Amino acid sequence: MKRIIIAIDGPAASGKSTTAKLLAHKIRYLYLDTGAMYRACALAAKRQNIDIDDDAALKRLIDNIHIQIQDSEQGNITLLDSEDVSQAIREPDISLLASAISAKAIVRTKMVELQREMGKMGGVILDGRDIGTVVFPRAELKFFLIAPVEIRAQRRFLELQAKGLSPSFEEVLKELEERDKADSTRALAPLIPASDAIEIDTGQQSIEGQVAELYRHYQTRIAEL
Ligand code: C5P
Repeated sequence: MKRIIIAIDGPAASGKSTTAKLLAHKIRYLYLDTGAMYRACALAAKRQNIDIDDDAALKRLIDNIHIQIQDSEQGNITLLDSEDVSQAIREPDISLLASAISAKAIVRTKMVELQREMGKMGGVILDGRDIGTVVFPRAELKFFLIAPVEIRAQRRFLELQAKGLSPSFEEVLKELEERDKADSTRALAPLIPASDAIEIDTGQQSIEGQVAELYRHYQTRIAEL
């Protein structure tokens, strides 16, 4: 059976990574969380105290760090210079910094190159913001996940609480709104649906329902190829 490239884009906390991970498991594809790569860049910048508006310093940083994503049964493991930073990149302050650093051309060029290299053989699901528009515009199957911002904030709020963090709901909501605005309005690879993406509203759906819906589209697409 043909092993295709599946792009899943959408705003923060729209359910992309959970759905992508489960679908990848079901159809035995590799799952690649591209947001984790921008998060790892942000973590490196924070640790090295880099001003991300200092182009020369940012270039030095990006030229010298080594980011790897490994897929495992539990999901992706993100390595920054061989250190497992999968937890550290989920801290709330890294989210906004990831959004800011991902608007920089030097960062995007290197990450997109890595993503294309990892996905080129097919049999892969990538989730992000620009997979269907920029990274793999010829992906055979593209989804754009949406959900009302309050529902997304509620999901993220519960996720953070489960990790023992105690942000207020308003803080989480504000962070998502800020990030979506920045991601959608930036000049480079803004968050927009590809013209051939299938829009999926995850607002009222269970995770199982979402995975089943994407799987149905996958089967239809595979049968056409
Ligand atoms: O998906 P996640 O919320 O972890 O992504 C963190 C940030 O990385 C996003 O807010 C976005 O700015 C950036 N990103 C991106 N392009 C992608 C994936 C993520 O610009 N393909």
